[in-house]
Amino acid sequence: MNSEELEPIDAERCQGESRESSFMTFGIPSFIRCSQKPRWIAISVRSGTFYGAMSLCDECKKVCEIRMPDISFQKLGAVVNETP
Ligand SMILES: [Zn+2]
Repeated sequence: MNSEELEPIDAERCQGESRESSFMTFGIPSFIRCSQKPRWIAISVRSGTFYGAMSLCDECKKVCEIRMPDISFQKLGAVVNETP
């Protein structure tokens, strides 16, 4: 296992971040952590090498699919049991 450098997957909260600028930051973009419940695990594999995984909600998954086409997705329930 070489997973010590990876951030653990947060099954309770989406790990997506979006860059938002608002009047509160005077136009300086800041990263805001998504607060939704995750439904997907995004797995980044490039040239057969595992780079990392993170939990994502439906909306962040859509953004991720457009920006990072080399990412594959797994339903979160397949890894962490959801309450029936
Ligand atoms: Zn999200």
